Amino acid sequence: MNDCRIVEDLLPLYEEDLLHKETVEWMDTHLSKCDACRSRANETLTQFPVTSIKSKKTASTMMKNAISKLAIYQLLLVLLSFAFAMSTSIFANSFQFILSYFVLGFMTFYFYRSWILTLLISIVPISIWSIYDTIASYGSYGKWYTQALENHDSAIGLFSTLLGGSLLMGIIHTVFAVLGAVVALLTKKITEKEETS
Ligand SMILES: [Zn+2]
Repeated sequence: MNDCRIVEDLLPLYEEDLLHKETVEWMDTHLSKCDACRSRANETLTQFPVTSIKSKKTASTMMKNAISKLAIYQLLLVLLSFAFAMSTSIFANSFQFILSYFVLGFMTFYFYRSWILTLLISIVPISIWSIYDTIASYGSYGKWYTQALENHDSAIGLFSTLLGGSLLMGIIHTVFAVLGAVVALLTKKITEKEETS
């Protein structure tokens, strides 16, 4: 088989950009020397002009755009459920936080599949808020410190009570977030099974 036959056979792959680098280089060398092959190549390449490569690119950019859009929606949903969770626990005059933390745990785990993130997003903000709320209920940091210290032996005792109480708040809320995450995990397992069967 002579080189021209090989080039002719390889042209469709050459056009689709599916050849090895070495093969492309060999093709280029041959095309630069051989008028017959070059004109055949020009015919094929204009028959399916570069659009096929372009459309491949647009397909992948569309895919990328879709994925980043999805990521934004996921983030928005998690942020919304986070805002919902924080508002129910801050205006804590009901047990709404049970639902809102369940939703927060579900969303976070469903989209990001991370236990650490699910735990952090539910325990950290509420604990910090709880510290703030305890101090704010006295009016100012100075007032809290002097008044609350009267009930404690030392400043260390006072701060450990503050931290312990806030952490307990965080843990109570996180229990429901973990429940939500477990449901998210089960939902994922079930849908994955349905997809494979
Ligand atoms: Zn040739």
